[in-house]
Amino acid sequence: MDEGYRIAVVGVGGIGAAACYWAARRVGGGVLGLEQFPLFHLRGASQDSSRILRRAQHEEPYATLAHAAYDTWDEVSAEAGEPLVVRTGGVVIEATAQRAGLATGGRDIDGYAAMMRSHGVEHEVWDAAELQRHFPRFRLDGDERAVHQRDTSLVDAGRANAAHVRLARGRGAVIRDECPVRALRPGPAGVEVVTDDETYRVDAVVLASGAWTNELLPGPTWPLTVTQEQVTYYAPAEPADFAVGSFPIFMWHGRENFYGFPVHQGHTKLGQHLGGHETTARDRTFVPDEVRIKRQREFLDDHVPGFAGPEVLTKTCLYTLPPDQHFVLGPLADEPRIVAAVGAGHAYKFASLLGKVLSEQALDGRTEHPVEAFRTTRPALVDPAFPRAFHV
Ligand SMILES: Cc1cc2nc3c(=O)[nH]c(=O)nc-3n(C[C@H](O)[C@H](O)[C@H](O)COP(=O)(O)OP(=O)(O)OC[C@H]3O[C@@H](n4cnc5c(N)ncnc54)[C@H](O)[C@@H]3O)c2cc1C
Repeated sequence: MDEGYRIAVVGVGGIGAAACYWAARRVGGGVLGLEQFPLFHLRGASQDSSRILRRAQHEEPYATLAHAAYDTWDEVSAEAGEPLVVRTGGVVIEATAQRAGLATGGRDIDGYAAMMRSHGVEHEVWDAAELQRHFPRFRLDGDERAVHQRDTSLVDAGRANAAHVRLARGRGAVIRDECPVRALRPGPAGVEVVTDDETYRVDAVVLASGAWTNELLPGPTWPLTVTQEQVTYYAPAEPADFAVGSFPIFMWHGRENFYGFPVHQGHTKLGQHLGGHETTARDRTFVPDEVRIKRQREFLDDHVPGFAGPEVLTKTCLYTLPPDQHFVLGPLADEPRIVAAVGAGHAYKFASLLGKVLSEQALDGRTEHPVEAFRTTRPALVDPAFPRAFHV
């Protein structure tokens, strides 16, 4: 039994790597990170060249945390000595179908604008003509509406994960990969973390194991849905037209919800939010869905001609969704020494902040950040009859 660590972080993906870093800032070598696969593997949710970071939020709990999310990325970038965030500007576009009520999981421009107003976030609401004037590469039907927010950015997730791990280790944390955790056993003297070659007893555990979470919960499991999502990278013929500064990050709310990135690391990128099929962390494949690739290309041909070009790569990835699509963040109902996080398919922008919050909850039993909405005792997680707020 190794009792040399105060806190164990189980799962060193995007959120776990951040938790290792923020915990190491507090207790240095008292942090142990355990990852089942090689670090920075492609089987989870966090390894990619870009993730959207935005102040443009339409729901209160996220709008409240957005500023702190930017601040934590700034702090980590400063310590890492490299820019992890690229500011691109961003537009949320409400398309015709959205207003016709044909949309999935509707989010309207007025909702975004009202939320930003109430949080003091500068923004502009545009009609189709204004959007076209600013970004002529969009092809619009004419009655779209958009809200523009200039701080929308991409976080280079691959760089950020590596930076969190490097800085955590630099502060004394021990991070072991290819070391699956088999079980968590809370006991009177601490929580036992069982691996194949060692059992660790620690004061607290951060459970940041994404799509595998239910395999490790010592008590009741949660009604989590895992979906296999995908993004496609393209080599546009005229990359300058889609370069950062010339073209924004965009979220298109129409019949389907697409999101796209300007050229980063040589490619544009497009994904569809919640377009994937249900799976499990163990049954997922790495086979792209050709139907979705075709659907994306049709969308781009219709509304952003030239953004695509030849397809470079389609990469699959996992969402882990509670029924209400909100994060899970906080201590387990019946075991406060274990604090857990599930990203609900939209957490990378908050990854460093969530890592900080988890380290505070694990080390102090509390946090200043307003995360009550994500508690593990909420109805969506404990009421078996709670309806799923999304379609798969
Ligand atoms: C296609 C796609 C696009 C996205 N785009 C955005 C975006 O633009 N903006 C945004 O904010 N969010 C976005 N997200 C969501 C975001 O990426 C995730 O919410 C976030 O990365 C989740 O991080 P995580 O650390 O919880 O999960 P993961 O990175 O999957 O980490 C969990 C880790 O736990 C490890 N683990 C599991 N079980 C064990 C065990 N028994 N022992 C040891 N280790 C274990 C796993 O191997 C894994 O490394 C996107 C997600 C996808 C799939």
